[in-house]
Amino acid sequence: MVNKKKLVIFSDFDGTITERDVIIMIMEKFAPSKWVEIKDKILYNRTITLKNGVEMLFGLLESSKKDEIIAYAKNEAKIRSGFKEFLNFCSHENIEFNVLSGGLDFFIEPVLEEYKSKLKIFCNSGDFNSEKIRIKYSYLPLQCSLCGDCGCCKIEIIEKHEKEQFIRVLIGDSLTDLAPSRVVDVVFARGDLIKYLKQEKISYIPFNDFYEVKEKLAQKYLTRK
Ligand code: MG
Repeated sequence: MVNKKKLVIFSDFDGTITERDVIIMIMEKFAPSKWVEIKDKILYNRTITLKNGVEMLFGLLESSKKDEIIAYAKNEAKIRSGFKEFLNFCSHENIEFNVLSGGLDFFIEPVLEEYKSKLKIFCNSGDFNSEKIRIKYSYLPLQCSLCGDCGCCKIEIIEKHEKEQFIRVLIGDSLTDLAPSRVVDVVFARGDLIKYLKQEKISYIPFNDFYEVKEKLAQKYLTRK
């Protein structure tokens, strides 16, 4: 049977496109040490929701540090290998590449600046009008039935690409990618996400870099006509 569905990519940013989580890098450099406890409550104890957690973390940072934080993220964040080649592959194959992130525009956009013509970014924005950084929400969950705990609901963004028409591919590395893993067709996973997917018996393809993602996608979907 000819598969007429189109591939579409939904990729996480922190720790997926970048080698390290840029939120963590920013906290290590600019936040008072209590950020660690908040992070553990979000990721390990799971007693703080992702939305509240990200809000609390950025609420530790002075708005006046904005330019310094941007420069730091841009200089220090390393892009995972094969990313550029994977984006070229997606453009060539006419596959949409969407970045879905619980992080914020002011560090994601500068880090991805040279790639911006080949991808679309969905994330919330930093608000620097108060003493501490706040969040301007654009992607709060409206009626997400799976959790509704995220400040940026990846599921509702994914659902705009109907499963009858698309093969939805998620690429991710952590807890923020667990709920969306339940609604897509293919999950590429690394980092802690693997542990969560195993616990929930959701199948996935492990990856270390974007060369592997490209190769496996091409093998699976593009060699059969
Ligand atoms: Mg991540």
